[in-house]
Amino acid sequence: MNKEKVKLKCTRMDEEGKGVVKIKGQEIHIPYLIQGETAVVEVFQNKKGIQAKVLDIEEKSEHRTHPKCPHFNQCGGCQLQHLSHEGQAQFKQNTVEKLLKRYHKVNPIITMEDSCSYRNKMHSTLALEKNNKIISGIYEENTHRVISIERCLIQDKHADEIVASILDMMKSFKMKPYDEDAQQGFLRHILVKTGFASNEIMVVLVVSSQIFSGKNNFVRALTKKHPEITTIIMNVNNRRTSMILGDQEKVLYGKGYIEDTLCGYVFQISSKSFYQINPIQTEILYNKAIEMAKFTGNEKVLDAYCGIGTISIIVSGKVKDVIGVELNKEAVKDAIKNAKRNKISNVYFYNDDAGDFMVKLAKGKQSVDTVIMDPPRSGSDEKFLSALIQLSPKQIIYISCNPVTLDRDLKFLTQKSYVVKEIQPVDMFPETYHTESCVKIERLKG
Ligand code: SAH
Repeated sequence: MNKEKVKLKCTRMDEEGKGVVKIKGQEIHIPYLIQGETAVVEVFQNKKGIQAKVLDIEEKSEHRTHPKCPHFNQCGGCQLQHLSHEGQAQFKQNTVEKLLKRYHKVNPIITMEDSCSYRNKMHSTLALEKNNKIISGIYEENTHRVISIERCLIQDKHADEIVASILDMMKSFKMKPYDEDAQQGFLRHILVKTGFASNEIMVVLVVSSQIFSGKNNFVRALTKKHPEITTIIMNVNNRRTSMILGDQEKVLYGKGYIEDTLCGYVFQISSKSFYQINPIQTEILYNKAIEMAKFTGNEKVLDAYCGIGTISIIVSGKVKDVIGVELNKEAVKDAIKNAKRNKISNVYFYNDDAGDFMVKLAKGKQSVDTVIMDPPRSGSDEKFLSALIQLSPKQIIYISCNPVTLDRDLKFLTQKSYVVKEIQPVDMFPETYHTESCVKIERLKG
């Protein structure tokens, strides 16, 4: 198929923020095209089928705005910077409503006024450009080419500054960035985690070999330049893999973890464990979940997919006891430490698949009053949901970062003995298409 120019009007957007149009009877999803706009697009065919890209917008949406980031069109990390704050809120509200309003009316989304520097975790991949310049950034969308990003607007500013200093130091330390194709070089990735409340900063240097010559001098120089760094970890990843972190770790400086405070409790965060990336909106989300649950103080609660135990610990003072279950061993270790750190004795953590654990609870005829579940983007699974029905808690609080899988799981639960009582979207990821939702689900009487 030859390239062709077509003028058309976009009438809706998909869940990923792309404009959907019909070309030759086929639905095509076009990046950076907004509902209501008329545009001239170039239609072409590649391995994925018929595609189109915007050439010119003839009728602009009132929500179109100039993207703040110069890398917006290449990077792919943010998808909605061409939409105003209002436009993003409307897009997210519409997406959740389209999928979930058949279960219940959807509350207006809780947005975040200042969408700059909200992320507390930054990952940078290193590469060597043809002119021998060391760069760091992320892979260009759908490719394996690293694009250089010196400032990512949604990241904590310190993280960018630390990465820039490391790149600078690499020359004098004769440290080479890792080349994935040649499988040569040393420094592969840099991970920076920041505790927004504690101001503690962790730097993880992901390297290809255990031999880090001059490491003491490197650590001394880096911490001298950035006294705000509280811990540095060397992580060895010598496999050919798209996974960032390898298995072996060595603490080069500080205590090997950072702490942060969320809803009044202190949490220990290690290099590998999951911690919500937008702590300001997370507090709002967790408080909403607690408000929905209307705890009386006597409940037995199960916190499924509990990560480092944040939700378990935050609700522990409002209920009788909490059981947390989580698949990641490191996260469970952190969760146990976190309970101790906060002097909490009514939470119990288990390292297991949430579905398997739920089946065991159901078989053992255990009773649980409230299940709080916060699965990954892929949602829950039938094993878990079937056991949940069998366990039959009075209420379920479902926290989800993907309304598509949330819809699938709600369909399952509402076909059985449950009904949706409230749906609250929260914008945890401004400038991206991702939307978090908190849903209250109740068991039907009888
Ligand atoms: N509730 C936590 C973590 C939510 S992220 C918080 O708010 O911080 C989802 C978590 O589910 C991750 O920690 C991930 O490791 C865990 N997970 C993924 N699949 C799982 C499974 N099958 N069983 C249990 N936990 C799982």
